[in-house]
Formats: sequence, structure tokens, C-alpha cells
Amino acid sequence: MRSSKSRMNTRSVRGLNLGVCSSCGKRSPIYFRRYSGVKLCSTCFKEDFIKRVRRTISRYELLRYDDRIVVAVSGGKDSLVLLKVLYELEQDFPKSELLAASIDEGIDSYRLDSLRTLKKIANALHIELHELSFKDLYGFTLGEVVKLGIAKKLGLNPCTICGVLRRKALVTVARRLGATVIATAHTLEDVVQTYLLNLLRGEKNIRPIGLRREAEDVIPRVAPLRLTPQREIALYAYLEGIPFQSKTCPYTHESMRDEIRNFLTLYDYKYPGSLYAFLNMFERILEKIPQPDEVNRCEICGEPTDRRICRACEIVLSIKSLLKN
Ligand code: SF4
Ligand code: ZN
Ligand code: ZN
Repeated sequence: MRSSKSRMNTRSVRGLNLGVCSSCGKRSPIYFRRYSGVKLCSTCFKEDFIKRVRRTISRYELLRYDDRIVVAVSGGKDSLVLLKVLYELEQDFPKSELLAASIDEGIDSYRLDSLRTLKKIANALHIELHELSFKDLYGFTLGEVVKLGIAKKLGLNPCTICGVLRRKALVTVARRLGATVIATAHTLEDVVQTYLLNLLRGEKNIRPIGLRREAEDVIPRVAPLRLTPQREIALYAYLEGIPFQSKTCPYTHESMRDEIRNFLTLYDYKYPGSLYAFLNMFERILEKIPQPDEVNRCEICGEPTDRRICRACEIVLSIKSLLKN
């Protein structure tokens, strides 16, 4: 027998029978979660979005009540959403502090747009924003490295250089600010892509991504959006009036990650829920692999690394020596 609720499910939008919100049972849904069949109205969607981030933080113990959190913000929608959600969650933890850090890689005018938006949002939320550029820290910009053909000579694509050096720049700012933790806006897709990339590159030391890993004199990096899919972040940003970045990075299509991203997007569309299935299975396997207690340090900068000299220092040294010639 059909329930009264299912009899109400008669509203049709663009040929789909959307019915009413699965959570409140009253309002019209605006979002259909394909892997679970749940339909949510905008109010319930926003509540559910925040709840999921809160659950992720508590399930993996990502943040502490008295953390000094530095949020890595690029000005893209993912990091702006993270900043806003952490700002809301932080209201319940008066002993914690929230700061934002932005790294300017020096990619022509790409960052200018996003930096303007970022400043506006950080100001509105009364969050201190700290900036650091590749030029100030390393003495060159990513744009110069690509245009002068140095990236090609090193056999590296711009995203590899960018990712490694941005990560180091972020740790540098976080240390200057006395942070106890760095929060990044890596999403479900980002985490799965990185695991797959590590597997395909045959990396030996694959570590859990975005989970709190404590070690002496190491600032842990956590990813509170690691269970949130990108399309839900985009919808949340839209509903909250968070602007989308209008420019795309000119180097985005040069990466292997871009190919993996395209593959996973199609795969997850065809088989909804497969990203969660992969993440859960992969992390169960990772849990069984013992992680070293001792942290090896880079001989140059002292940051943790599996090598004698960390990848960032190695890249910076190679770029500087090519710039001299
Ligand atoms: Fe850096 Fe690549 Fe992202 Fe551009 S697309 S900002 S080069 S990681
Ligand atoms: Zn609802
Ligand atoms: Zn180093």
C-alpha cells in the first residue's frame, strides 16, 4: 500500500518525480543524492552539509577544542566553503582560533580575482588573512618557471611543482602563526584522486590523507571536507551566495590528476557511491600497514620527509640552479 508520504511525491520537475524532502517531509527538494536516494530541500541540505563536516571532524578526531587552526584558502569555492563552515562550527568552541592563509604561486592574473573575493569573505567573518608568495619565499614565481621552460627541463608538470611548493609555503606560514593544525579543503574526490595517483606512481610510503597525524614539531594537516563530494560543495556555495572563481588556472589541463579526475567523475556518475566504497576499502588496508613512529627530517629545512632532502628543497635547488644559468 502506498503511504501518504509517497502519495505526496507527485511534484514533477523537468520530468523527474521529486516529491518532498526526505528529511522534513514538507518542502520541495532541490537536491537528489544519487547514491542513497535521499532528496533534500535547501534548508535541510544546508543543515545536513554542516552536520556531515561536524561528523567527519569527530569521527576522525581532526580538530581539538583549543586548536589554533590555519585554514588554507585559495579563493576557490572549496576553500571558501571550508572557511565558512569552520567559522560556524568554531562558534561552539570559544578556546579555538581560526586564521586563514593564502599562497600566491604567481600564475599571471589567476589569483588576483580569487584574492579579492577571499579578502571580502575573510573580512566579513572577521578572520585574519595571511598571505605569502612563492616570489617572497623562494625568489621565483610559478609563471616564470613555466615560461622560461624550467619545468620542462626538470621533466615536471606545473601542478607538481605548484603542489609541492605550496604545501611547504603553507607550513611556513602556519609555523610563523603558531598554528597547532592546518585545515585544507581537500574533498572526497581530491582524496580518492590522490590515493589513486599514489598507487599508479608506485609510491612506497602511502599515508592517510587529511587525517590528523601527530609527531613532535610537526603541524598536522586535516581535511574536514574529505567525505564531502564536490557537487555538494558547489551547491552549498551557491545557496550561501559564495562566489565561484571565474578564471581557471592556465596549467590545470597539464596534469595527470586531470585525467584521473575525468575518469573518476564518469565512473562515479555511472556507479554512484563508488568513491566512498574506494575510500573505505583503501583506508582499511592502510590501517593495517604500520606507519613509522620516528619522523625523518630534511637535511636542509628540517621538515618531515622520507628522503634525505625533502621534495620541496630538491625542486627549489634545481630551479635556482637553472635560473642562474
Ligand atoms: Fe597549481 Fe596546478 Fe592548481 Fe594551477 S591547476 S593552481 S598549477 S596545482
Ligand atoms: Zn527539508
Ligand atoms: Zn626540505
